[in-house]
Amino acid sequence: MPAALPKKSKKNQQPKAPTSSLIKRIIRTYVACYKTELFIAILFMAFAAAMTAALAALMQPVLDDVLYGKREDMIIPVALGICLTFCGRGISTYIHTILMNKVGQYIVSDIQTDLFKKFMHLDMAFFHANPSGQLVSRVVNDVNIMRYAVTDSLTGLGKSLFTLIFLIGLMFLTDWKLTLAAFIVFPLLSGFVIYVGKRLRKISKSIQSELGDLSDLLSQTFQGIRLIMAYRAEDFEIVKVTRAIHRVRDLNIKSVRISTLLTPVNEILVGFIFAGIIIYGGYEVIAGRTTAGHLASFIAAFTMAYEPMKKLAKLNNTLQTGLGAADRVFLMIDTKPQIMDTNDAKIITSKTPDVKFDNIEFSYAGEDLRALQNISFTAQNGQVTALVGPSGGGKSTIMNLIPRFYDPTNGAVKVDGVDIREISQASLRENIALVSQDITIFNDSVMANIRYGNLNASDDAVFEAAKSAAAHDFILGFDDGYETIVGENGTKLSGGQKQRISIARAILRDAPILLLDEATSALDNESEKLVQDALKLLEKGRTTIVIAHRLTTVQEADQILVLDQGCIAERGTHDALLTQNGVYAQMYKTGMKG
Ligand code: ADP
Repeated sequence: MPAALPKKSKKNQQPKAPTSSLIKRIIRTYVACYKTELFIAILFMAFAAAMTAALAALMQPVLDDVLYGKREDMIIPVALGICLTFCGRGISTYIHTILMNKVGQYIVSDIQTDLFKKFMHLDMAFFHANPSGQLVSRVVNDVNIMRYAVTDSLTGLGKSLFTLIFLIGLMFLTDWKLTLAAFIVFPLLSGFVIYVGKRLRKISKSIQSELGDLSDLLSQTFQGIRLIMAYRAEDFEIVKVTRAIHRVRDLNIKSVRISTLLTPVNEILVGFIFAGIIIYGGYEVIAGRTTAGHLASFIAAFTMAYEPMKKLAKLNNTLQTGLGAADRVFLMIDTKPQIMDTNDAKIITSKTPDVKFDNIEFSYAGEDLRALQNISFTAQNGQVTALVGPSGGGKSTIMNLIPRFYDPTNGAVKVDGVDIREISQASLRENIALVSQDITIFNDSVMANIRYGNLNASDDAVFEAAKSAAAHDFILGFDDGYETIVGENGTKLSGGQKQRISIARAILRDAPILLLDEATSALDNESEKLVQDALKLLEKGRTTIVIAHRLTTVQEADQILVLDQGCIAERGTHDALLTQNGVYAQMYKTGMKG
């Protein structure tokens, strides 16, 4: 089975981690390492909250001493007190906001790095099962939602909770019975808050999944833009992408509709409580049992407490949305690669290893049909083994098994007599150079693209490799020479130039096993000759396995394997196979059309 995530149709049926364990994991793995910053931020939050309560408390002397008591001596101290309180609140809010944001950004980059590291260690089956747009969306969108949830929850919890504590404390001191009456209704709200949170978490998962699909659609569209233009499929693509955009839009609207349900419920509740306070407080003041200043201070505290209370109620929404994203991120972080090194993985020491397929059988995950069966052959060092046959015969699959992109279902692939499952992946792949027909060229300099073959190679080694691959001259012909940026997928290079760069890369790698997937696209005669010469040089002294599309390569191969429907239909040299007058001879006659 591949290390794959459940398919799209099952996206909302994924096992959901319990909230508490998810929160614990986020805190333990990503938040705990910033405890100093968090501690300082919380101190400043508490200070800012105390200042808010102080402002409410100051309403009492403003009314009782200054306005009603007409005490001139109190004007300046009370005004100064209010001014200082605002200053204190402003500065401490600035400090804790900066600190919390810093922590949030660090958490995002930590999770993004972890995710990317994970991707770099997962196997091919995972990447087949998860389109690249989905993966990009995980790293960019989900992680950002997690950051928002973490910082918002921490700030919200810290600041709102402190503010509430101070304000409710002040209200208790002013009138404890009224305070109890005012807040007794709030537990009723919590059930509703939890219900809304649950629905939001579910919807957030769907939004993220749809966003992933949208990213995927977009990246596919941009990659295939030539085809789209050539086939005038712009309108078709616009309809497809617009549908995806609308799905995201509608889900977002649904999410806002649900989360905003809290607002009217909150407002109505507070309206009733407020009216109650005015009625009760008004009678108390008129009866002389309390002062107008105390009532004003109580009302100020209640009004100020309303904001943090609303925030706390909404906090669950943000938290649930974030947990939805965390679920998806952790699902990826926890994916176990199917292809792993054993504890005592060996390294390849031979400089001339052969490659042996020992009765290999292989099926791709989820496919009933076997892509390969009864495949046995040995590719000797210093020889060229050519794979030919009709499309879908299994040639690429054989190539995929050698670097362990997949493990065989049965049988063993051996390098230098050792089952490659016992060899460390690093050592195995260091010993393999891959030149494939869909050449990967990064949007970087020519130098960097060649150096990909050996990241530690000196500039001189790169020049030498380029010379051997007959690439040096055309590279020097560019305005910036080796520093020329080649464009996405090497758009600034011709087909032949790309091939020669990829050959230079393989020469630089200097690995004893060479896997070659010959380009099918026709090159002009001169380029063709240059590429062929470069390949000949590259093949020398190596164990070469080549998917052959050209007659020349096949004729000179030491061994030809004719693959048909996953089996080796014929094997031998060119001459021997022609004499056999079987599939190969037939293919040869019809110009290797397969
Ligand atoms: P060839 O290189 O000779 O054209 P392949 O090795 O690519 O043939 O394909 C062999 C068989 O495996 C084909 O039936 C093909 O459809 C199937 N196949 C190839 N790649 C995959 C994949 N990633 N998932 C499922 N089936 C695959």
